[in-house]
Amino acid sequence: MRKRSILIPMPRSRFYRVICKNCGAENIVFSHASYPARCKVCGSQIVKPSGGRAKIVDAEIVAELG
Ligand SMILES: [Zn+2]
Repeated sequence: MRKRSILIPMPRSRFYRVICKNCGAENIVFSHASYPARCKVCGSQIVKPSGGRAKIVDAEIVAELG
């Protein structure tokens, strides 16, 4: 058995579980999204791309995944 040395190739990118502030729906967004992600329920923009790390807008991060 070999040791697994690299589990996550891109350690700074991850997924967030966020709650939309408009409607309270839960959404999964990518931390480095290069596109404006919208809430799947009410359609308001919750992620704003900003070159590298995306900004979470109008949503609250409740958990980090991966
Ligand atoms: Zn919403």
